[in-house]
Order: sequence, then C-alpha cells, then structure tokens
Amino acid sequence: METNPQSTVGFLSPRKFNLRARMGVCGALVAATFTAGAAGVTDAMIVNDQNTPEDVLTVGMGQGGQRFSTLNKINTDNVVDLVPAWSFSFGGEKQRGQETQPLVYKGKIFVTGSYSRIWALDEKTGARIWSYEHRLPDGIVPCCDVINRGAALYGDLVIFATLDAHLVALNQDTGKVVWNEKIDDYKAGYSASAAPLIVKGLVISGVSGGEFGVVGRVEARDANTGKMVWVRPTVEGHMGYLNGKENGISGKVNATWPGELWKTGGAATWLGCTFGADTNLLYCGTGNPSPWNANVRPGDNLYSSSTVAIDVDNGKIAWSYQSTPHDHWDFDGVNEFIPFDFKKDGKMIKAGAKADRNGFFYVLDRTNGKLFNASPFVTKQTWASHVDLKTGRPVETDNRPGDPGTAEKGKSVFAAPSFLGGKNWMPMAYNPGTGLFYVPANEWGMDIWNEPIAYKRGAAYLGAGFTIHPLYDDYIGALRAMDPTTGKIVWEYKNPAPVWGGVMTTAGNLVFMGTPEGFLKAFDAKTGKELWKFQTGSGVIGQPATWEMDGEQYVGVASGWGGAVPLWGGEVAKKVKDISQGGSFWVFKLHKSGAVKAAQN
Ligand code: CA
Ligand code: CA
Repeated sequence: METNPQSTVGFLSPRKFNLRARMGVCGALVAATFTAGAAGVTDAMIVNDQNTPEDVLTVGMGQGGQRFSTLNKINTDNVVDLVPAWSFSFGGEKQRGQETQPLVYKGKIFVTGSYSRIWALDEKTGARIWSYEHRLPDGIVPCCDVINRGAALYGDLVIFATLDAHLVALNQDTGKVVWNEKIDDYKAGYSASAAPLIVKGLVISGVSGGEFGVVGRVEARDANTGKMVWVRPTVEGHMGYLNGKENGISGKVNATWPGELWKTGGAATWLGCTFGADTNLLYCGTGNPSPWNANVRPGDNLYSSSTVAIDVDNGKIAWSYQSTPHDHWDFDGVNEFIPFDFKKDGKMIKAGAKADRNGFFYVLDRTNGKLFNASPFVTKQTWASHVDLKTGRPVETDNRPGDPGTAEKGKSVFAAPSFLGGKNWMPMAYNPGTGLFYVPANEWGMDIWNEPIAYKRGAAYLGAGFTIHPLYDDYIGALRAMDPTTGKIVWEYKNPAPVWGGVMTTAGNLVFMGTPEGFLKAFDAKTGKELWKFQTGSGVIGQPATWEMDGEQYVGVASGWGGAVPLWGGEVAKKVKDISQGGSFWVFKLHKSGAVKAAQN
C-alpha cells in the first residue's frame, strides 16, 4: 500500500490500453451500443452518461455535473402521481447524515452511507445484493459529520472514498475488495468523503482536512489498479508528480505565501472535480487556506478558495480563478464548477458556472478562466460590495475579523454569508432546456473573531471562533433559479430550515430537492411552483437522481439528517435539533392509474 504520494509510481495497465485501442477503432459504435458485457463500464459510456437515462454512472449524472436528465416521462403534468416504489433501510445504529447520490447500472443501485458504508441493491426490488462496511480506525477526524457523497463506476468496479482517507474499489457483483489505496494519514487530519470521478481510465479524487492544515491536492490513479499516475498540489509551492517523477511546482514558492505556512496551507479539494470533455480540463474547487486566522498568512494564498483547471493528461494547472483571495471567513471555494454553453452576441460561449460559498454566482470561460460575470445569489454579503469584472477580484469591505496579535481574541465582526456558506457542498443543477441553474442557498451570518494559533499535527487549525445566526425569522434555506446570462434570480422557493441536499433537474421541466424537514420536493423548473412532496421520515440532504427501467422513469434519494449544520450551526443548530435522524434510500415512480395523489401530498 502506498503511503506517500511523492514516492508512488503508477503505470497504465495493459488492460486499459487494450480497452482504449478498441475504442479508438470503433469509438462511435462503442458509445452507441455498448451497454453491458465483460468490460463493464467504459470511458465512452461515462463520457456519454448524461444521454443514457437507463443508467447513472457518475455522481453529477455526467462528468460535467449538470445533474440534468433527458427523461420526461415524469413531468409537470403527472408528478403529482409520484409514489414510493420501495425503500431500503441502511440499518444499524449509525444513523447520521446521508449525502450520497445513487449510481444505477445493470440491474443494481449502488448507494453509499454514513461511516464509509456502501450497498448494492436490486434495481427492481430494493433487496440487498451485498454490503460493505469499511473498518474505520479510532481517531479519524472528519470535520463535518461521518458522511459520504457517493461512488464511481469503472469496468466491473465500484470505487468510493473512506473517512480514514483511503480509496476502496469493490467488485460490482460480489462487493469483494479489489484494491484499497491509502490517500494519506488520517492522524495528520486527512479524510475523504467526495465521490471520485472517472476520466479517461483515471480515478480522480481530492482530500478533506482543511480545518487541520493538510496540503490540498488532486490525485489521478489508474482506476483498474489504484496505482498513482499524477498528483497536483493546490497549495502554491508544493511539487507535483507524474508517474513517480517530479512534474513541476504548483505556482512558485513564496509568491503568494510568504514565510512557511504554505507547508500546512489547506486548500483541501474536498468535493473533487468536474470535467469538460471538450477542454480536457478537470475543474476542481479548493477550500480555505489554513489556518482560518488570515492575519498570520499574508498574501493571496494561492490556490486556496479557487477553481483550479487541471489538464487531465499531464496533471498540470492550465488556469485558476481565486474567488476569495486571502480568505478571512472560511469561504471554501470547493463548489462544483459546471460546464455549460450559452449564446452571446450570436456566438456560442464555452462557459462554466459556480455558486460560491462566498455568495457570488460566477460565470467563467471554461477554456481559460476569464470572468464573464459574478452576481450575488444571497441577499446579504458583508465582505465584498461586488466583483471587479476587469481584474476578476472582489472589491472587499473592511468587514474582517481583527488581528488578535498576542491577545486572547481579536475584534469580532458580524459577517454574511456565514462560513457554512451562501451555498455549501450541496450541488446545484443546470437545465439546458430552461437555460437556468438551480442553486440551493442559505441565508445566515456569523459573529467571527480570530485567536492566536500554532500548527499541531492532527489538531484543529483554525485560530478563529464563531457563532452562526439566521438572517430572517421565516426562512434560512432557499432554492433559487439563476439566469447565468444576466445573473438575475428568476424564481425562488424559501424553506424554513437550511437546505443541505443536492438538486436535480429533468427534461420533464422539473427540479427536485430534499429538505431537512424530511421532504423530497418537485418544483416547476420554469416557475418554481411546488408540485409534489413526500415525507421520507428524516431530513433529506442527499442528492436525487433519476433513471429509466423497463420503460418507466424512477427517482431515488437518500434520507438521513446530519451533516455540518447540527455540528457547527450555532443558533441555527438549535432550530433544527428536533429533526429525527435516519438512514434509508427511497425510490419513486408514477402510480400506474395516474389518478392518485401522492400519499402524503
Ligand atoms: Ca447514463
Ligand atoms: Ca473550510
């Protein structure tokens, strides 16, 4: 087992070369007809995932992460007739936050759960085919609940990340472990919970641990074997590696990180990446620079709180865009960057959008990182008045927590959004039919102050204290439809509790999202009108997905309250303390008569 990315050597396996060679000869044919067989899930199938509704092979329902389905059998006219087909309980006593997205392939549904567990379920009946529970050591340090955000499929493998910072690949049919690779040492604060992404036979993954002074990075391994191919650090000054050899430093030592703190600089890649098949670039978000107390780390602190575009073939940074330079507020920029196209002055623009934790919705050129637009998707931003479109930099106010120096505590300020973000991890969705992004947002602020801090391996590395407060009495959460061409909010749905689950949209003109109050809800994608809801029994913070089986459309989502809000939410946590915990996976379909109302509508 590899323990140090700098010493790992990975080579592409002969098996993958054969696969690629075959696809090279008849690529189009493979993409169109190859849905099953000994080779299992192929690169061509993954590239085409968004257009093949009979399976869901990637988290994000496609490498670009648009979370859009071409299915329209369930639509605005009949969604009221959506009823449960089956439900599966994760069981045990480990009922904590369930933030996963299901994958669907060849009669099986793969669902991950809290405490690094995964199940293969029968697509028709929900019966358990196999389950795997990763043996977690004492002393793991996940910052924000023991969650997992989903798996990846490749060949006959299903691959997921574990809280002790491993990647584990299991046989899809048997659940037997095929390979198990250590990402890094959990005792140094590393953990992993993002869904890996498969691109060109590589399993792309990041690291969690930005609250522990880890060194953020993106890693690419041979998906068949788990062996390292390249590593790209996201803290400026660290060396990258390709096939075991030095592959250039990220940026330049001490350019934006004077002193020594870059050695424990954070910028954790804890949500992983999306991919633009037409640009050959991975788009990876990075978290806060470490520690939170910005007074001790002068400079912009690249590549923290940024979108970093990495060439998937050589592991080099093609461009980066830093949304919060020299971050004072824990505004992790990990949020998903979603490629999409739009017309401007008669020309198609290759763009990408990101709703950042700092409250701005950014539209960039996905080929070079040039900023087109940045507009607020929350009602209150104290830290910056706007983003200068010429320089690409935020125009900041002086609403920063004060320097404590050697005092116990520096000046406290009230800042919005809170560090839990205008948007946190929960992914938005893009509907090419409406041209709108659907952004799960929250309205909250925080008292924040700085404290002196020194790095200690494996210990929390913040140098800050905080209390989160709601901004409004009647709601915290909101689902907002954003027009990326204007930056305007087209419609919004307000939710009493903070929203914490992913969004999905379909060609049936629908938007699906769960709520902590326990509902999976469906909205009209054009108007935001709530059309359907179902009470799942615990808070829904999972990522819905949809697929087709035997000519019928299904919708699935995990239910189970938890995540960062109850742990870090301050005044907000008190508001949601009575929500029941859980752990189950729900699947819905249209009632055949088409005449019933959903049981709990
Ligand atoms: Ca598919
Ligand atoms: Ca953070």
